[in-house]
Amino acid sequence: MALSQYVNAAPPEASKQASQMNGAGFYHRPLGDYDVWTVTDGFGFWPAYPTFGGRTAEKSAVEKAARKWHLDPAQLYNTFLMMVVRTDNDLILIDTGYGDSQRQPTAGHLVEHLELLGFQPEDFTQVILTHAHPDHLWGAVKNGKPLYRNAQHYISQTEMEFWNRDDREIQQAPEQMRGMLTTTRDTLRALEPKLKLVQDGDTVQGLKMISLPGHTPGHMGVRIQSGGETLYHVADIANHCRLLFDHPEWDFSYDNDVQQAVQTRRKMLSRAASEDALIFGSHYTYPGFGHVNEMGDGFHFIPEPIQFGWDQSQGHAH
Ligand SMILES: [Zn+2]
Ligand SMILES: [Zn+2]
Repeated sequence: MALSQYVNAAPPEASKQASQMNGAGFYHRPLGDYDVWTVTDGFGFWPAYPTFGGRTAEKSAVEKAARKWHLDPAQLYNTFLMMVVRTDNDLILIDTGYGDSQRQPTAGHLVEHLELLGFQPEDFTQVILTHAHPDHLWGAVKNGKPLYRNAQHYISQTEMEFWNRDDREIQQAPEQMRGMLTTTRDTLRALEPKLKLVQDGDTVQGLKMISLPGHTPGHMGVRIQSGGETLYHVADIANHCRLLFDHPEWDFSYDNDVQQAVQTRRKMLSRAASEDALIFGSHYTYPGFGHVNEMGDGFHFIPEPIQFGWDQSQGHAH
């Protein structure tokens, strides 16, 4: 189970291409008996405002909050982090990145980075989709066919119903939304033969689905437990681990229902804080693992220090 086995298994071509990304595109963290990897799909930039607080805050307040963390309000860095969980019998992918869409030209590298670990799309036994936004879903289909062709796929029933619109409904949406709505619907339809609809509390090979609505109506997190450790994959409940932790009352521009998103964010972050559980967000500082403290009316994200190796018996000076 040594990590080096997977690094060495990488095809030389893939390594050359993908290792141009800092951190080599993946990060390994054991969780009890499981292996968990963050695998990057890529990155992007957006302005602090109105991406954050556009419907709930003043521009000056959002920019001030960014500067407090020494972040450039004109160009906030955004990461796209997917997760691989390996249990005794299964290889599970959580979210699939942008795929070939070019919607975000600096992303769409998930498959290259999985290859660095020695994983091919056909190796996966399950794919969990936290929600149907392009950066989480679109990579699940390539040339109109499911890319992870041996995997059972899972998404919330509410999410499926929300995005499954007919052409007439899509034509009624604002023009800039129509392309996204069409691709998302068509992607879900292409996955349908391999798709199982889930609800709050359902389990996927021992991983528990948690309903976290608001960001999208069927947005879900995943609770992963092994060997006494708990990890909450909270996907997009707070799309910035500084701004929306400081100000959980602010909106993120892709939050569908702001009031519900704020409520869910507070509830989930409080829960992680009180349980002292590890959390992981799809857009947090790489590699995305950390803990939560409650701070006044908000929260504080404490990234878990990156570790080069995990054998606790080694590395002590004597
Ligand atoms: Zn999202
Ligand atoms: Zn996202």
